[in-house]
Amino acid sequence: MPELPEVTVIVNGLDKKLKGLIFAGVEYDWPRKFFWGRRPGGRSGPEGGFSIDDLRGAKVKGIRRLGKVVIIDCTRETKGQSDKEEKGIEGFSILIHLKLTGQLIYQDKKTRIAGGHPIPPLNLPSPNKTTRATFEFTNGGHLYFNDLRKFGWVKFVPTDEEKIREAIGVLGPDALEISFKDFADRLAKKPNSRIKKLLMDQTFVSGIGNIYSDEALWLAKVHPARSVASLSEAEIKALHKGIRDAMELAIEKGGSSANSFVGSGGEKGLFLSFAKAYHMTGRPCERCKTPIARKKMDGRSAHFCPACQRLEP
Ligand SMILES: [Zn+2]
Repeated sequence: MPELPEVTVIVNGLDKKLKGLIFAGVEYDWPRKFFWGRRPGGRSGPEGGFSIDDLRGAKVKGIRRLGKVVIIDCTRETKGQSDKEEKGIEGFSILIHLKLTGQLIYQDKKTRIAGGHPIPPLNLPSPNKTTRATFEFTNGGHLYFNDLRKFGWVKFVPTDEEKIREAIGVLGPDALEISFKDFADRLAKKPNSRIKKLLMDQTFVSGIGNIYSDEALWLAKVHPARSVASLSEAEIKALHKGIRDAMELAIEKGGSSANSFVGSGGEKGLFLSFAKAYHMTGRPCERCKTPIARKKMDGRSAHFCPACQRLEP
């Protein structure tokens, strides 16, 4: 499953190419996971929400992420009037959650950008049998949302941070943006939680999964099964820094290739070759040469150095 760094890599790739493009329409064969949502003022549309007429002619303002969700912010311009003036809806955002097997592929005559899960292969022509939605642009380009296992979703919401968060569901602060104080305060409310499990809880902090929880805990020299109450302030500081360092390194390297992740240029991420703990079982710890251990914990595999990351202080 793509984690925050992988989604960041896709978003950066798409933002460069899609900004300024104008939607011509959309086709989807996936009504159960394709939500047109509600327009401000409750104007009529499919189920009281946005409609294809809102999408047609809308311009891509930019692409960003919130947690692991890709957000395409759009504006509409009124024909015949000042092109700064907007009619009806102020702007809307298309939210796309890749979940386990989502892919986003943009293609026009000159460019192809692909990111997400590598099955089916990202170089397979789209649309194909995993294509759930096809957005068409007036330049002849298409953005395909492919999802083999259909866990992902698409939602249309007004561009309003509160409504966006509501549509995504309860979401903790972003792992790259959370302040030390907020991080420490939130930990203090969960004294009995095991630290690795808590880091992966998206309502605690959003964007961290199995890979970056292992990496951050290794950097901070904290055992994944430690209880929050047992952590010293110095350890909490090291963990807060470790989360950021692990993710920034991964973004710099184009995302991870674990779970066979592939970045927006179609290239495999290189993060695993820089990983200190995740999937490094049996290899010597970079600090102390003790072999990295792997242990099942709360249904996931934790990777850690049994010497640097002690369960008992
Ligand atoms: Zn070690």
